[in-house]
Amino acid sequence: MLSVDGAAGEGGGQVLRSSLSLAAHLGASVRVENIRAGRGKPGLLRQHLTAVRAAAEVCGAEVAGASLGSRRVVFRPRRPRPGAYRFAVGTAGSATLVAQTVLPMLLEAPGPSVATFEGGTHNPMAPPFEFFAHVYLPRLRDVGFGVKVSLERVGFYPAGGGYFTVTVDPSNTSLRSVDLTSPPRAPRLRALVLQSRLPAHVATRERAALCAGLGLAEDAVVIRTVSSPGPGNAVCVFIEDGDECLEVCAAFGQRGRRAEAVVADVVAQVQRFQRTGVRVGEHLADQLLLPLMRAGGRFCTGPLSSHARTNIELVRSFLGSDAVAVAEKDGVSTVSLPAS
Ligand code: AMP
Repeated sequence: MLSVDGAAGEGGGQVLRSSLSLAAHLGASVRVENIRAGRGKPGLLRQHLTAVRAAAEVCGAEVAGASLGSRRVVFRPRRPRPGAYRFAVGTAGSATLVAQTVLPMLLEAPGPSVATFEGGTHNPMAPPFEFFAHVYLPRLRDVGFGVKVSLERVGFYPAGGGYFTVTVDPSNTSLRSVDLTSPPRAPRLRALVLQSRLPAHVATRERAALCAGLGLAEDAVVIRTVSSPGPGNAVCVFIEDGDECLEVCAAFGQRGRRAEAVVADVVAQVQRFQRTGVRVGEHLADQLLLPLMRAGGRFCTGPLSSHARTNIELVRSFLGSDAVAVAEKDGVSTVSLPAS
């Protein structure tokens, strides 16, 4: 039985989610202790519990400790099974994080799957749907995974109630090593403002602030009013290079936060990405490790985040210390994974 200390490094939910995915990959049992010890409210919240239950369902696993607030989970997976699945967080907890937990399992299952994920689709501190669909999944397709997604309904924090459906066809899979080390050629920007149940001036002020802050033409900013169970507002900036979307930077409206402050947040993220001159942004860097571990690959990113460092150490603890190599020079980190 492998043992993971959930307090290590970042000490967040990612340690648990990645441990489940890695254990399923190896077909090995794992015990995760001190779950989310680094967070103000430690233990399993609904999103993490949903990820544990989803992983257990896909892998026909025996699980102990799968209850709200639990700080210790034991997961004994069998082989991932293809099928039609529906996983509901039940709150506005992030549905994309649940999807990222079970996707590596469904991609190793011996047949196609369709999985619907319900919960928050646009949450702070988690991949917003646009990042998941336009940055994360295309990199999985670069590796050779046959995977598609469609958004059925937006779910903003705190009401939630969003859902999307992922289709996975492992029979279409022919894996190849990817190299994401070359600098972008001529990145362009466009933006999407999503809003639900808010006065129209919020989005139009955000468009004006995006045009002023990033030098965008008005028609490079699309405003979409969506139907969602609760009010919400998300500003997403897409950084594209040719056909490839390198990054989606996002910021979210909340009660008492001015539209201009939401845009200032996203503009600062865009400028930070542009300054690093790499293809892989801060968040993708920690999320790419698991999809790359089978076929191998290399990427350049900026300074490694605590999430990325923690995930690298976790992958090494499951697969061996030479499973990930890191070279850091002048603010650029080159991360390499041999095929496993
Ligand atoms: P944790 O805090 O341990 O639950 O992990 C959160 C995960 O969400 C990490 O993989 C982060 O990279 C990811 N994440 C947080 N914010 C964003 C964002 N704005 N875009 C994409 N991914 C994000």
